[in-house]
Amino acid sequence: MAKIAAIVPAAGSGTRMGMNTKKQFLALAGTPLVGYALKAMETSPAVQEIVIVVSPGEEGYCRSAVVDKLGLNKIAAIVPGGKERQDSVYNGLLALSPDTDIVIVHDGVRPCFSLDTLAAVIAAAQTHGAATCAVPAKDTVKLANEDNFVTRTLPRNHTWLVQTPQAFRYELIMEAHRRARDDNLLATDDTTLVEYLGGRVKIVMGSYKNIKITTPEDLDMAMAIIKAVGEEDL
Ligand code: C5P
Repeated sequence: MAKIAAIVPAAGSGTRMGMNTKKQFLALAGTPLVGYALKAMETSPAVQEIVIVVSPGEEGYCRSAVVDKLGLNKIAAIVPGGKERQDSVYNGLLALSPDTDIVIVHDGVRPCFSLDTLAAVIAAAQTHGAATCAVPAKDTVKLANEDNFVTRTLPRNHTWLVQTPQAFRYELIMEAHRRARDDNLLATDDTTLVEYLGGRVKIVMGSYKNIKITTPEDLDMAMAIIKAVGEEDL
């Protein structure tokens, strides 16, 4: 059986939230935000181990306030993150054993993803090497310069908004991260690093409910989604 491990980066500073408690640890219906992603990974029969990445010094807090509180049993390590998300994921990768076959990366601040999506992303990574869930853009997406003048308009029927979970063959994501570090490439998601290597990335249909909690309004939205769908069916 393939060995599948999940990395959950949760070492962001959460500055856009404007609150004292970091957003990843804010209680949402009694559960710390990062706990939703972790519980889903724990529930998935495919996932064998989970590595959580938190800000340096928060490892103990994460263990007591999240892992122990929720009774999670698949946590292989809680490791310190780095300056950028990419650094945090890399630290998570270093904590995996080299016999790992498939690596899932999922933002700790995305509580509303389904196990069906996770399974589809894993299957696509097994077939194609790298995969992400994403949703078609509903709005037209434009690139602009620093003075906010449009420089390019992307064709909407080919534009996707990329989410997590993403999944990769272990050797591919290790090589992609190493090359990015060597070449000083910094990206906001991990599939970009595979693209840089020249690798193909398969998109599987995600869900508009799979929001990333960034600002306080997103918390209200996540609460509404969780209540409407029921935590078990996300
Ligand atoms: O920065 P962004 O909002 O895209 O963060 C996505 C995820 O990456 C969040 O779960 C955040 O906690 C995590 N992150 C991290 N280390 C950083 C920055 C972000 O683990 N240095």
